[in-house]
Amino acid sequence: MQNSFYANTELIGLIGYPIKQSFSPFIHNVAAELTGTKLIYMPFEVHSSNLKNAVRGMVALGIKGFNVTVPHKVKVVDYINKLSEEASVIGSVNTVINEQGKLIGYNTDVNGIVESLSPSKSKVSGNEVCIIGAGGSARAVIYTLIRNFKPKKIFIVNRTEQHSEALKQHFKSKMKFDGIVTKELHHPDLINVLNNCSLIVNSTPVGMYPATDDSVLGTPDVFVKDQIVFDLVYNPVKTKFLQLAESKGAVTINGLIMLVQQAAKSFTLWTGNEFPTEKIYKSLLLYVSK
Ligand code: NAP
Repeated sequence: MQNSFYANTELIGLIGYPIKQSFSPFIHNVAAELTGTKLIYMPFEVHSSNLKNAVRGMVALGIKGFNVTVPHKVKVVDYINKLSEEASVIGSVNTVINEQGKLIGYNTDVNGIVESLSPSKSKVSGNEVCIIGAGGSARAVIYTLIRNFKPKKIFIVNRTEQHSEALKQHFKSKMKFDGIVTKELHHPDLINVLNNCSLIVNSTPVGMYPATDDSVLGTPDVFVKDQIVFDLVYNPVKTKFLQLAESKGAVTINGLIMLVQQAAKSFTLWTGNEFPTEKIYKSLLLYVSK
């Protein structure tokens, strides 16, 4: 990389803990270089006990904006002045813009999910779909499905049923959506439920590097031909979960598309510049396979 820094170079931060595994510095610094944007993107490892001070520090230093990642996406909402509609309904923020000391929070994961699923829109709309996991990213997936893809029913399959029940209540109250059904991860009827879904999404971290032999669903029999199967895990690009789905003839979508598309939205929010999506996706594929 050959970025040069001048008095007018703007700083974008990333706060999370741990942070060393993040691909976002690579994505945004390459995008800045490719588009000639005077920007540098820096990760900051921030412990939960320091979150409030870290956010205050961003404002005090006049930093243009920042990304927020695990485990701060929900807690950071307390320190934001204004939330976009999607961040407010989801209850989590991954992108912040500092507008003259006022922090505006967005959730650009929604853009990543819309772009990943839009080629499959007609297969999702009016059908049953299933999300595995009930954490922060499951919230963004459920919001996006209800808002943009109009499924008939959403199954939330999770290890801890209390967490999926909480999500069901959350979306019933916030989006008036009454079509969520919760299931335990090891429910005996799970194969039938999943076979009838036109879309299955993994929103758990299971299968992520280095545990690449793991899959949250252990048998290929849960998948069927032409079903859409989307894994939010992006490293490796083809997870065990996607390999099992492919073995049954499902159409698979990897998490790298979402990662690049959420970054694209954040980059444009901060800079107003278009993001070189194709070039970044290709560079990231090479970067991940190293
Ligand atoms: P999170 O809030 O910690 O939620 C994780 C969920 O996974 C929880 O519901 C948890 O179940 C479940 N889970 C964790 N370990 C499990 C296991 N061993 N077996 C079964 N279920 C398990 O995490 P998150 O923020 O939603 O992120 C989840 C994954 O999505 C991460 O790998 C992250 O990197 C990825 N992600 C990707 C993108 C992208 O752009 N591609 C964006 C956001 C997130 P319990 O409720 O039982 O604890």
